[in-house]
Amino acid sequence: MPSPTSSSPVVSLSFPEPDVALLTLDDPTKGANILSQNVLAEFAAHFDALQSRTDLTGLIVRSAKPGIFVAGADIREFAAAGEITREQTIGIATHGRELFRRLSRMPFPVVAAIDGICVGGGAELAVWCDRRLMADSPKTQFGFPEVKLGLFPGWGGTVRAPRLVGLSNALELITGGESISAKQAAAMGLATDAVASDKLLSAAMDLVRTEKQTGDYLHDRERWAGPIVQSETELAFLGATAAGYIQQQTKGQYPAPLAALNLMLETSLVDADAACTQEAESFAELFNTPISKALINVFFLTDRNKKDTGTTDRKLTPRPTTSVGIVGAGIMGSGIAGACAKRELPVTIHDTRPAALADGVRRALEEASYEKATKGPSTEKILKLAPLVRSVDDAAEFARCDLVIEAVVENEQVKRAVYAQVEPKLADTAILASNTSAISIGKLAESVKRPDRFCGIHFFNPVRKMLLVEVIRGPKTSDETIAAAVAFAKSVGKSPIVVEDGPGFLVNRLLFPYMNEALELLTAGVPIKVIDGAAKSFGMPMGPITLYDVVGLDTALFAGGVMVEAFPNRFLKSALLETMVQAGRLGQKSRSGFFAYKEKSGGADRDMRGEPDPTFDAVLKPFLREPQKLDGETIVQRLFLPMLLEATRVLEEKKLRDPRDVDLGLIFGIGFPPFKGGLLFWADTLGAKKIVEMLKPFAALGERYAPTPLLLELARTNGKFYDLKSK
Ligand code: NAD
Repeated sequence: MPSPTSSSPVVSLSFPEPDVALLTLDDPTKGANILSQNVLAEFAAHFDALQSRTDLTGLIVRSAKPGIFVAGADIREFAAAGEITREQTIGIATHGRELFRRLSRMPFPVVAAIDGICVGGGAELAVWCDRRLMADSPKTQFGFPEVKLGLFPGWGGTVRAPRLVGLSNALELITGGESISAKQAAAMGLATDAVASDKLLSAAMDLVRTEKQTGDYLHDRERWAGPIVQSETELAFLGATAAGYIQQQTKGQYPAPLAALNLMLETSLVDADAACTQEAESFAELFNTPISKALINVFFLTDRNKKDTGTTDRKLTPRPTTSVGIVGAGIMGSGIAGACAKRELPVTIHDTRPAALADGVRRALEEASYEKATKGPSTEKILKLAPLVRSVDDAAEFARCDLVIEAVVENEQVKRAVYAQVEPKLADTAILASNTSAISIGKLAESVKRPDRFCGIHFFNPVRKMLLVEVIRGPKTSDETIAAAVAFAKSVGKSPIVVEDGPGFLVNRLLFPYMNEALELLTAGVPIKVIDGAAKSFGMPMGPITLYDVVGLDTALFAGGVMVEAFPNRFLKSALLETMVQAGRLGQKSRSGFFAYKEKSGGADRDMRGEPDPTFDAVLKPFLREPQKLDGETIVQRLFLPMLLEATRVLEEKKLRDPRDVDLGLIFGIGFPPFKGGLLFWADTLGAKKIVEMLKPFAALGERYAPTPLLLELARTNGKFYDLKSK
């Protein structure tokens, strides 16, 4: 049989009964159905044929791909469009919308039978149908995630959705960008019903027949062509509350949700035709803006990460991890155990202190059964998952684990002792990994018998919230081990990047120059509020000084020490930090650091708010140098340029296989603002030449602001970081 090619049809027309047409989507070349221009053209050809078939009772649109109806429009085509004009963007939006609008004008009822993911352009296709039936399966998710790309639906979604389910529901769907289940869609009236997957097609057949008979769909077509019936007071209330909520969520840094709100409020007052025209015009305002481009880049980064196996050996099939062992039941050990249990991966956990072990198991189960809605653990889930988390007092019990992660205290001798005890008990194929944040994997590997089966698997704190995992390749780590570690991290819902061994690995190495510079600014008399404010205005979730308190000043001092030792020309130990640690000002954990703390709320989501600490001025005073007055822009440059320069050194040293891992690592590891697209994406937007210029005024500050050979080379050749390939 010939293998499918990109020209193989994606949309096929059949007639399960002589009077019922069925359009089935199934792209033979891809794992998901995507609405590319070619697929739209196929739809157009089928619509041409169906439009005159007044003999038909109805049309059903469905997918033959398991778990996926349509995953959206083709974002690569969007991105490839490059610098197109406003008129061209309006043209693209109008083309797709007018195509799907034909579904709402067929001479018979049209039903979308949705089983699996139905998002973005797929959701727009579905809302142009007269009715939607959904398979009641966990895979069915309906949503408009366009705001996550800095856009909103542009094929009529903002017009149809509010007319089908009311303005309030549609606003929530479109401005929030989250997906809903089949049951939620049915409750909202978006789906006529949620039925079992194997009954979906027959239920859809019944539905077209009923609709044809009753003619209800015709009344709805008429109703949905007009404005939305809503009182002015309701509209004003909805507008004010939604705008307030959006402002709070986006901090004014993501314009798409607010633009969608304004558009939908306005177009609720006009008929659907006029609303469609307005939608395309407003869509063009957002398309290709720097923020949308940056967010689309983040989409590509995550998409690439999903496909990355961790090695360049494409044929390698990673050994699956079916049982995990964890040594050390502290903050990280319990968090990692929780992540495993949450994905129903059996986990065996050991700690030398029985009290720590009991506490770690309890915390692991709480983390595993945490529910967003209640911001706490679900007792029902705890009971369900409890048999998966086994506590053992003897490391010999790890014999059946495919992977053992060591998460004991950050002390090389203690870690080496653990390996000596655990490694002989492991199966020949098992992997041993360390969660160390700063100790060299190569050095630790010296003490193990099988360094090829040893690597770093560095989770971030708090494990439940942080998506990033750094998989650290030691000098002797095998490709098989890396591939298995990457597959394991993905299996527990994380986004792993592979980093060659080295001081600070990737994230801490890039974080340190930024944190270090914050202290330099502080001792140059720049107030904490101004430093943290500048970082937040850049888009960071919190300022660097606040971050010190969250991480713990002792931890920061220790991790910083590793960097200072490795790169003494660029970094100096902060005397201020040392003094604060000696004085027991460790940050949140000691209720006192750069800020003073009172605990705000207990439970799994413990939250502490720092207050300005009146005693801090006296702590800082001995370290203050000649005060400098710096504007916000200069502070931003002082903070982020050393981070960028360090990233260029990481690339020069070939620590990563692709520069994009810098961006993914920082977005998922420290909350680098997604709307900037990533550190290197941001740098590429500015251009290397401009960055070299920006560095010039800081030359007197020494090597940490000196342009690196890679940066100078890119400035000379007008090159981009994203065009570099490390390996
Ligand atoms: P922790 O102090 O909370 O827990 C360490 C646990 O290890 C303790 O319960 C201790 O009793 C146990 N332990 C000590 N020696 C042991 C031994 N020989 N055998 C078994 N258990 C032993 O520490 P943590 O914060 O969870 O850190 C663990 C590791 O993870 C460290 O290497 C740390 O650098 C790394 N890490 C920490 C963070 C963080 O933010 N806390 C983030 C990333 C990585």
